[in-house]
Formats: sequence, C-alpha cells, structure tokens
Amino acid sequence: VIDYKNGAWQEPHILPYGPIEMSPAMAAIHYGQALFEGMKAYKTQEGEVVLFRPQDNWARLNKSAVRLCMPEIPEELFMEGLKKLIALDADWVPQRPGYSLYIRPVMFGSEGLLGVRPATEYKFIVFCSPASSYYAEPVRVKIEEQYTRAVEGGFGFAKAAGNYGGSLLPAQQAHAEGYHQIIWTDGREHNYVEESGTMNVMFVIDGTLVTPALSTSILAGITRDSVLQLARDWGMPVEERRIKVQEIVDAYQAGKLQDAFGTGTAATIAHIKSITFRGEEMMLPPVAERTFSNKISAELDNIRYGLAPDPHGWVVPVK
Ligand code: PMP
Repeated sequence: VIDYKNGAWQEPHILPYGPIEMSPAMAAIHYGQALFEGMKAYKTQEGEVVLFRPQDNWARLNKSAVRLCMPEIPEELFMEGLKKLIALDADWVPQRPGYSLYIRPVMFGSEGLLGVRPATEYKFIVFCSPASSYYAEPVRVKIEEQYTRAVEGGFGFAKAAGNYGGSLLPAQQAHAEGYHQIIWTDGREHNYVEESGTMNVMFVIDGTLVTPALSTSILAGITRDSVLQLARDWGMPVEERRIKVQEIVDAYQAGKLQDAFGTGTAATIAHIKSITFRGEEMMLPPVAERTFSNKISAELDNIRYGLAPDPHGWVVPVK
C-alpha cells in the first residue's frame, strides 16, 4: 500500500491481505477515480521469478492516471513495491507451464469529498493471486451492435474501473446466450471491430495479421504489442488499421479467415472458436490448423518461462 497525500507519494507498506478503511464519501465510488493494471510473474525452469514487461504496465497506469486527473506514480516506487511484494514468498509463484502469479495493482481516489473535483488523496495497492490461463477452451464470441464499450474522445484507452462497470450487462447477456465474450464495435455506427471484454482481437486474413489500430477507445494491450512485434520479427505481414465487421464476414465467406484470437495478460492467447454476427455463426478452422496463433502462443510462453531467447528484453527478474 502506498498513500498519496499532501501532494506526494508516501512510504510503501506491506500488510496482510484484508479489509481497508474507507470514507463513505470516497472519491472513487462517487466520481469514478479508480483504475488498475493486470500483470503476471512467472517462475522459470531454473526457479527464477520474472515479470513480463512491467515497465509497460507502469507507463499505461500513468497514462490512465493522467486521463482521470490522478497523480502519476514514479517508476522506482512502482517497480520496487512490486518486487518487494513478490519476493516475500517465492513459493507463491507456481512453477508449472501455463501457471503464474497474477498481480493486480489498483489506484483510487480515497479522499472523502462531495463536490465534483479530483481527490487530493489516493491509495495505490498491489495484491496477487496464483493463476492459470483464463479460458481452457476456444471461445465463442458475438459481435455486439447494441451496446458500446467506449467512444472516441472518451477513456476507453485507460484501464479505468468505469469501463468495466459498463461492460458487465452486455457480457452477462452474451453469457446467457452461450457466448464466452463479445467483440465490441465502434460507438458511432457499430461497423468497425474494436476489442473484446478483456482482450484485444486479431485475425489472420489470407496470410496477413490484421488487428484494429489503437485509438482513444481501445486499450493498448501489452500482449497485443508483443504479438505484433514477434510477427514482424518473423517477417509476417502485419496491418494495424480499422477493420469493418463486413470485412471479416467477406473473408470468412471467401475461405480466407484463417485464424482469430484474443490477446491479454489473463487470457494469454485465446483461440476464437466462432464469431456470431446477426445470428450467423462463423466457424473458424480447428485449433490444430491455426499455424500462427499456436506458434505465437508457444513463443510467448517460452520467452516468459526462459525457454527461448528474449530479443526485446521483456523479461525482468525479481530480485
Ligand atoms: N482490452 C481490455 C479491455 C482488457 O481488460 C485487457 C486486459 N488488460 C486487454 C485488452 C489486454 O491487455 P494486456 O495484453 O495488456 O493484458
């Protein structure tokens, strides 16, 4: 726990997991000054505990903070706090392929106030939980045309709690209809693919890796960026641009939709089994035939568990 008051971040404290005190007038629960991050620590075959691209989570946290009028946190404080917490007990990072320690940094306005203005007091808290991958099987997704997750000029690019609150109802409805996830479309015409509930989305169309370009309404996923960098390293054609839902339908009908998957820290690489658009379910090829997503999934795991070279310096040891 690190408190922010009198215009400065205070000394970090490590406390047993448990309830915290809060004011009923706390800014976070009235005016939505709440954001978080999601990251993972892995244990390599040699028993070394490593983080995956933690500086990118730090940078994204601060970008979100700026958008919500919250104080930025210095890199040393973020990194030192994280490393001290994880190093407390090396045994709580599982040493099994596919398993990791999920780390949840969260920051919120803790000052009790009534007028609508940014808080002057904040809390930054990090807690952890051992985890496996989110989805055990390929996911069925539906293109969402009724609800909107985020709009241009809004704060969809921030990992703000409010983005998730608004996503719960559409996700719940999709679950009731038998889907694991929805694919959000743009807030204007619902014509363009945005992202999924907890993942960015990618498609392989006729040999090219295609994903929606970043904008103010899409979360800049760190897994997304890692996949794009590796694909470019391998000489694969990569396009980051706007993608019409109709383009996916056309590619499917022409037999050119070779792969579709979600990318995220919790979900890692989640194969998409089928995409339903206006009641028509488009079935993707069997997972065994997905050359790209299988290869990228294995390579990312190998880098994280220290089984493959790490050319981009993504893996940071916790000492
Ligand atoms: N989009 C949303 C809405 C998410 O919650 C996440 C998970 N953080 C992602 C995309 C993927 O981001 P990352 O790869 O950094 O986990």
